[in-house]
Amino acid sequence: MSVKRSLEIELEKLEGFRNPKLWLEQYMTPPSLAAELAINASLIDNKCNVIDLGSGTGMLSIAFELVGFRCIGVEIDPNAISIARLNAKRVGVNPNFVLCDVKMLNVKRKCMVVMNPPFGIQRRHADRIFLNKAFEVGNVIYSIHSAGSEEFIEKLCEKKDFKITHLWKYLIPLKRTYKFHEKEFKRIAVEVYRMERR
Ligand code: SAH
Repeated sequence: MSVKRSLEIELEKLEGFRNPKLWLEQYMTPPSLAAELAINASLIDNKCNVIDLGSGTGMLSIAFELVGFRCIGVEIDPNAISIARLNAKRVGVNPNFVLCDVKMLNVKRKCMVVMNPPFGIQRRHADRIFLNKAFEVGNVIYSIHSAGSEEFIEKLCEKKDFKITHLWKYLIPLKRTYKFHEKEFKRIAVEVYRMERR
């Protein structure tokens, strides 16, 4: 079995949000995408400390731990943190999950950032808060965005003295999360960026 598939199988054991809060744009990253991202990062970057902004139920932190990074998940929703801790235990890793608003986060040393930020559909610019924090605390950033974000990200990078080194495009299955979702599954186009400080 491929490394990716076996990681995916572990990640399929993780539980999602119990009562997802729309205003926080809580969507769990699908296991296949989380596995892909963690494996790409493990091939490109040295093992280091990772901060997962808006860690939710832990999908990205746990994926990155499973490939050998040390992770801290930062999350504003205490219910999500409880689930994330159970999830980590379930697959035998031990990331640190802290209750904190991304806006308020301070770090001593710059590190790698990974995130699937709110796309800013429910609250305008929610994604920008995450990106600005990532540019502040990160040297390398892996970030998931809705399709068509390239110009926006490019401009921000320019301003913050970062560059886009990789861009991957995927169609991901989005599970029915909110009542207004009509179908059980929908495929949505996303883009994953790797950015690094110039
Ligand atoms: N990283 C998870 C969850 C992505 S959904 C995964 O990939 O599965 C985005 C997450 O960001 C949600 O859990 C939401 O509660 C959290 N969030 C939204 N605004 C936040 C803020 N200001 N500070 C910290 N977390 C926030």
